[in-house]
Amino acid sequence: MVDELNNLDFDIPDNLLDEIQHNIEHIIKTFDVPEENKMEVIRQINYIYTRTKYLSITDNLTGLANRRNFESTFEKEFLRALRYNNKLTLVMFDIDHFKNINDTFGHPCGDFVLRQVANSALQTFRKTDSIFRFGGEEFVVILTETDINQAIIPLERFRKTVETLGLTYQDQEVTVTVSIGACQLSPSIKTKEEFLQKVDETLYQAKNSGRNKTILADFV
Ligand code: GH3
Ligand code: MG
Ligand code: MG
Repeated sequence: MVDELNNLDFDIPDNLLDEIQHNIEHIIKTFDVPEENKMEVIRQINYIYTRTKYLSITDNLTGLANRRNFESTFEKEFLRALRYNNKLTLVMFDIDHFKNINDTFGHPCGDFVLRQVANSALQTFRKTDSIFRFGGEEFVVILTETDINQAIIPLERFRKTVETLGLTYQDQEVTVTVSIGACQLSPSIKTKEEFLQKVDETLYQAKNSGRNKTILADFV
């Protein structure tokens, strides 16, 4: 049963998971589990709970944090930055002409590319930065304690890393590039939705100005 969990693709909200945990504790307390089995039952339930929680915040394909994880982390970091006047840069990147890669080399190749790009991001950014698969071939990075001038260095390094990955899939060369939009938190940004919207617009500019580009939002 525990092994089967590895293959499940489901989505359970965090608050529901906490309720499940609470219920499990209740069951353990009230059920007449023989003393000698108690530890094993607790161990198994604990594993299932932890694994379920992990799956609910992780993207199955890339192993990156998923969209739900982003929503909660972003809210936390946004509020923290406002409260303590910390620097914060939000980044969105998207694989260029990804549909072509799927169409030319097949969907499994597209999946392979997504994993490789995710790995490059993990290797490029700091451990204190958080990388999320936002959806499809779109990713978000939260750069804490970083303004836009500091962000440009890792962002350009990442863009060039992807450009020069030199991926081959079934003996065929697959060229991959990403377009990147980034924006730092500024007084003109009042809500996290505005912040995300601004980054999305900046990514759109990177796409429209030829792709394989990093564009920084200008702000007032
Ligand atoms: P652009 O340069 O403007 O971003 O063009 P694009 O082709 O990358 O963008 P578009 O939005 O047209 O296509 C995105 C494609 O991503 C379409 C969809 O089938 C594919 N896709 C989304 N999720 C996955 C996935 O998990 N695996 C694979 N292989 N493809 C995916
Ligand atoms: Mg794309
Ligand atoms: Mg896209």
